[in-house]
Parts: sequence; C-alpha cells; structure tokens
Amino acid sequence: MSSINKKSYTALINRLHQSLNHNAKIYTIGHIKYLNTKYPFQKIILGSHKSNRVLISAGIHGDEPAGVETICTFLENKRYEDYLDKWEITILPCINPYGFENNTRENHENKDLNRLFKDHDSPLEVQLAKSIFSPSYFDITIELHEDYDSYGYYLFQKSNKHDGLQIGFKIIDALKEVIPINLDELIDDMPADKGVIHRIKDIKQMDWWPMAGYSLAMKTGHCFTLETPSKMAISSRVDAHLIALEQALMC
Ligand SMILES: [Zn+2]
Repeated sequence: MSSINKKSYTALINRLHQSLNHNAKIYTIGHIKYLNTKYPFQKIILGSHKSNRVLISAGIHGDEPAGVETICTFLENKRYEDYLDKWEITILPCINPYGFENNTRENHENKDLNRLFKDHDSPLEVQLAKSIFSPSYFDITIELHEDYDSYGYYLFQKSNKHDGLQIGFKIIDALKEVIPINLDELIDDMPADKGVIHRIKDIKQMDWWPMAGYSLAMKTGHCFTLETPSKMAISSRVDAHLIALEQALMC
C-alpha cells in the first residue's frame, strides 16, 4: 500500500452528492466498519419506475479505480439524461470502500468480495450488494472492472434472455476505435470470442460466484462484467467504460 495511492472515500461521497445536485436519490444502506472508520455504503437511483431497469456497479476491487471514476463522470456530465425516458438506473458506486481508500483488491478482512456471492455468511459489503436484487428485477447488470494484465478491453457476458451475445459484440464494436480490444482466444485461461467471454460455466456448477453469478441466479436478463486495461491512461479507461455503458443502455 502506498500513501500516494491513498484516496478519500468521504471526498468520493461528497463528489457524488455534488454531481447529483438533488436530481436523484442517494441512499446510505449500511455502514462498513473498520477500526474507527465507518464507511457509508451508497446506492443511487435515477429515473425510478421506468420500464427497463439496470444496475451499474463499481469498486468491488478497490485497486480498480476506473469503474468508480466512470460512475462519477457519468453523473457529473449527466450522461444518463438521454436514457431516463426508458431506464431506471440503480448505481452502487463503490462496493469496497476500504479497498478504494487503500488501493487494495480485497476488503479490510483481506477478502476478495467478488468471490463470495454464493456464500450465506458473506461479508457485509456483499450482503448489501445482494440486498439490491429481487428476482427478475433487473434487465441488465453491468459491473465495471479493470485488468492489470490485459493489453486490451474485453468483457464477460451471460444471460437468462436471448440476444445477450449480440449486445456483448455491439459493446466491443463501439469500442474498437477508442481503445485496443483483447482479441486473444484465451483470456485468463477462458475461451474468448473477439473480446467477449461467453462460454462460461453454468452457475450451478460453480463452487463460488462473482456478483454476476448472483445476478444470474436472481434471473437478471443480461449480465455484463466489463474489463478495461489498466495499462492505459485513466482517462482512456474511463472513456471506454462510458461508451460501453451507453452502448448497453441503447440496446
Ligand atoms: Zn476486478
């Protein structure tokens, strides 16, 4: 952990409040406690009671700041406005506040939160993220990540409805001119198809679930986990995530 990387979660929350400027509801749905620190766990809802519902989440791995920054930019630049006629947008801006402040993948208990969504006695951060779901509620869930080893952008796609793969390819297509795409046939030892990892084990066969596994179990229409390459500048990583987000909302 380096002090240069130390970020302030309080500053992040203030930034979110300022960006929303009372245009949206921001809720504290719990507190993550670590020593003398209490991190308020935040949920944002934009455009409630619309026909389509999306969940966008970031910061489950604390050392992947591009997702959190993408959400800040999405809100600050009001990039959501074009989609509010159709979409109710729920946002979990930072699932791992301790990791965000300390630039660690894991939480304060050294747990990788994105491996613990199948567990019944999961850490509080995971329980709070799970509490957002109800069966078949979300049409799409989008999780914003980074990959330190990849030279290019790629994504995971799995769906309970048809046409999820086409949306995945459309997202990658929209990114081609903006950022390199990881075109390897194997990414992280998983078979990939032009930047899309879609031949994924059935969740019933998995010993552990990432958040997307829980989302699938809760009958979300389409689940996307987006991976932007950490090797690129933060501005490029954020731009790519924003384009991917908007592409998903257009589909
Ligand atoms: Zn990650």
